Amino acid sequence: LAGLDVGKLRADFPILTRTVRDGRPLVYLDSGATSHRPRQVLDAERTFLEQHNGAVHRGAHQLAEEATDAYESARSRIAAFVGADPGEVVFTKNTTEAINLVAYAMSNSSVRTGLGPETERFALGPGDEIVITELEHHANLVPWQELCRRTGATLRWYSVDDEGRLDLDSIELTERTKLVAFAHQSNVLGTVLPVAELVRRAQAVGALTLLDAAQSVPHMPVHLTNLGIDFAAFSGHKMLGPSGIGVLYGRAELLAAMPPFLTGGSMIELVRMEGSTYAPPPQRFEAGVPMTSQAVGLGAAVDYLSAVGMDRVHAHELALARATLDGLAEVPGVRVVGPRSLEERGGTVAFVVDGIHAHDVGQVLDDRGVAVRVGHHCAWPLHRRFGVAATVRASFAVYNTPDEVGALIDGVRAAREFFGVS
Ligand code: PMP
Repeated sequence: LAGLDVGKLRADFPILTRTVRDGRPLVYLDSGATSHRPRQVLDAERTFLEQHNGAVHRGAHQLAEEATDAYESARSRIAAFVGADPGEVVFTKNTTEAINLVAYAMSNSSVRTGLGPETERFALGPGDEIVITELEHHANLVPWQELCRRTGATLRWYSVDDEGRLDLDSIELTERTKLVAFAHQSNVLGTVLPVAELVRRAQAVGALTLLDAAQSVPHMPVHLTNLGIDFAAFSGHKMLGPSGIGVLYGRAELLAAMPPFLTGGSMIELVRMEGSTYAPPPQRFEAGVPMTSQAVGLGAAVDYLSAVGMDRVHAHELALARATLDGLAEVPGVRVVGPRSLEERGGTVAFVVDGIHAHDVGQVLDDRGVAVRVGHHCAWPLHRRFGVAATVRASFAVYNTPDEVGALIDGVRAAREFFGVS
């Protein structure tokens, strides 16, 4: 598939050799929730901790210096991986924290003067609008609800059509639109959103843009500078890297104009009892001792993905999605929620089986060693939009095989037999 030697690649992932449910091979189709780490990532973290551990940006000793170099080298490689400058990459805990950081900067009360000409763009008040979409993960929905509650701004959203595409005619942006925040790829439907068009519309009214790239950066080549986006967020644990580390990307001049989020050590320029001034980005947004070995691990993960090649990762996962869509189409009573055409989607496939609750399908699959996610996948409004309480979701990574897709399809057939709906 896509010229990948998946068998060889799988040998890099220790967890894939284990069995589950009384000796069945693990068929892991839940990488959209969290992915597994190759030996190269595990080794990078271990070597760092065994050889170079120290507090970064502090201390005059060799270990502190080596730790700082490893941390900053990871930042540079991660920045290059997504087409950004190192100064535009802020380490956060995950996508959720990265989005909250921007939402926090946009509350009127926290906007400071003197941080640069762009500062006004973060001011928000009654009558202003934040625009999102109906398919967002709660991480890109609840922070904006909360921001609107705090500031009196209004939350609006693009709706989704029956095929799971964004309905670009459902709302118009206005001169009061301050920010348009949207997923690059839906974590449920697999829909890839029209980033260029959304950026064009946002820029036409002077709004900022934020891309939730949690489900795109791990699966396709993404060049944030070329996309023209202002902010983007993604998580290490979904891209073969460690948990506890994520990234907020922000255009340099915007980060420079933003007030800090957490305050304390490491993010200051000068501190007096009467008040403090803050370091330039990205340090301004990295208060306290950061997640150092995790950053090093994420650096190793992007090295790994780069060595495989993101074009090949993407093609491989799309081929698996095609096989899944075709396989499910052969099973009576199965309805895929989301676009059918590979032109419009990535490798995440959500479906319902008529007459069987998603949790029951998940149970039958789990008994056969097939790990999928069931439920609303932190996208409750989207499920409401499709009139379903829950879906079964299969999501892929570079280590999945066509045989595993076959195991999924067989499992869905078995669920129908077990529950007597065939
Ligand atoms: N956005 C999307 C599209 C996601 O799929 C997820 C994770 N399921 C998140 C945001 C949140 O990521 P995290 O839990 O790593 O913060």
